Amino acid sequence: MSYASDRATRLTIVYLIFGFLWIAFSDQVLAYLVQDAQTMARMQTLKGWFFVSVTGLMFFLLARRALHQQRELMRRDGLTGLLNRGMLRDEIEHQLELARCQQQKVVLFFINLDGFKQINATYGHAAGDSVLEQFAFMLRRQYGEEALLGRIGADEFVVSLRGDFDSQELDNTALRIMNCCRLVRLPEESGQFSCGIGVSIFPDDGVTAREVMAAGAVATEQAKAAGPGQYRQFNRAFSESFEDRLKLLQEVKQAIRDEAFTVVYQPQFAVDGGDLTGVEVLVRWEHPERGMVPPSRFIPLVEQQGLTHDITRIVLQRAVSELRSSGLLGTAIKRVSINISAQEFESPENLEDFVYMLTQNEDVCKYLQFEITETAIMRNLDATLAAMERLRLMGIRFSIDDFGTGYSSLNMLKQLPLNELKIDQSFIRDIPEDTNDAMIARTIIAMAQSLHIRLVAEGVETEEQKQFLLQNGCDEMQGFLLARPMAVAALRDLAFSTA
Ligand code: C2E
Ligand code: CA
Ligand code: CA
Repeated sequence: MSYASDRATRLTIVYLIFGFLWIAFSDQVLAYLVQDAQTMARMQTLKGWFFVSVTGLMFFLLARRALHQQRELMRRDGLTGLLNRGMLRDEIEHQLELARCQQQKVVLFFINLDGFKQINATYGHAAGDSVLEQFAFMLRRQYGEEALLGRIGADEFVVSLRGDFDSQELDNTALRIMNCCRLVRLPEESGQFSCGIGVSIFPDDGVTAREVMAAGAVATEQAKAAGPGQYRQFNRAFSESFEDRLKLLQEVKQAIRDEAFTVVYQPQFAVDGGDLTGVEVLVRWEHPERGMVPPSRFIPLVEQQGLTHDITRIVLQRAVSELRSSGLLGTAIKRVSINISAQEFESPENLEDFVYMLTQNEDVCKYLQFEITETAIMRNLDATLAAMERLRLMGIRFSIDDFGTGYSSLNMLKQLPLNELKIDQSFIRDIPEDTNDAMIARTIIAMAQSLHIRLVAEGVETEEQKQFLLQNGCDEMQGFLLARPMAVAALRDLAFSTA
């Protein structure tokens, strides 16, 4: 029997017992107290009225409670108990009315948990749910009744506060929210969680709940675009920059059609001995008016459109043709790393295109290595694993780029056919002074050694960093200290002068 029928049956039994007892005992009491028949008839009527009134009141209270509970359930998100999107909007509307009367502001913080999809993919949905519940708990503990708290998407939360805010207070609140996020824990994961926050303000960014929430969504996009753990306030100019981005996107699409990209090569060296071990191919786009547009500006745009494979195709073909015709491929250069984007392995057509391209260049497959970022792999582990397996059989090697910034587990690393890990630049930048980064770098080196995977340190800029890597047994390095990305002619000079 369901919980509801169970409770309803129990309540009915209590009601029946009460009714029987009332009828049996009240009649006896009346018979004892009242003797004449007329008074008895009047008392019986009064007794009937009393019974109907009490049970009516009981019925009213029970029905009110049930309907209230039902409404609360509909208002709230089942997992975290926070307001759902629709209810949050209604409540914010109410909050705006109060703020209007008291000439206050309402500030909406839109929070996005970084890397949440990866947590679900790596540790399963129970772990993902636990992260959401913990975060909701932290927010509730921090704000209690003071704020409206809502969950409006899988990993999207809103904190809405009314009051007189200055910019210092906004920053402090954002920091407090980020701290709530840092307190979230997963049993197998020692890293800290982070979140991006977009902020919108009534009445500056909108006067209705819908408007302020739309502004908040735009601010969230800005925060996300800035990278993990970022906080951005809604900026009207962003709408203009949105148009600007659209223009840039159209120009990249034209550049793809014209194959207007070039490539440069950044050499990689053995830490011990300094031999040239390979190169990383990096795309370059020289715009006729804008000048050199950095890949960090246009790759994310192209990624959003699902068009990165078109760029990879151009980069791969250009690099192979340049390195082949310069006589470097297979002689001085035996490893060529190509950057592959997150979604490229998610589409079967792209995979088929890779297979086709590689079949056309069968002799060079053994020199090629694909670099995929840690976060990209975890976006769709199964599809990526299958694609990697297929390409590995054709001779392609694999490297995880920006290692240490995502949430990959040892278990996942063991499943993948990996030849290399590239420790992210952010861990190299401040070693050896930053003891925390130094410890992380040492741990990653030890881990790569025990997994028998080659480790490359990126962004090596100083002699001290190089010494640290040497002392701690890192295999290879790449960075401005040794060589900047260069055109094929310069690479040829470098390779043949060191050979
Ligand atoms: P990445 O794959 O992590 O590439 C390394 C970036 O670090 C390159 O920037 C390189 O020039 C830079 N770098 C190398 N040594 C140092 C150093 O010592 N110090 C500092 N501060 N930086 C160093 P770049 O070429 O601007 O590329 C940026 C990002 O754009 C790349 O990061 C990669 O994610 C993406 N990208 C570049 N080329 C391609 C490509 O052909 N395809 C795809 N999908 N992405 C690409
Ligand atoms: Ca790379
Ligand atoms: Ca990298």
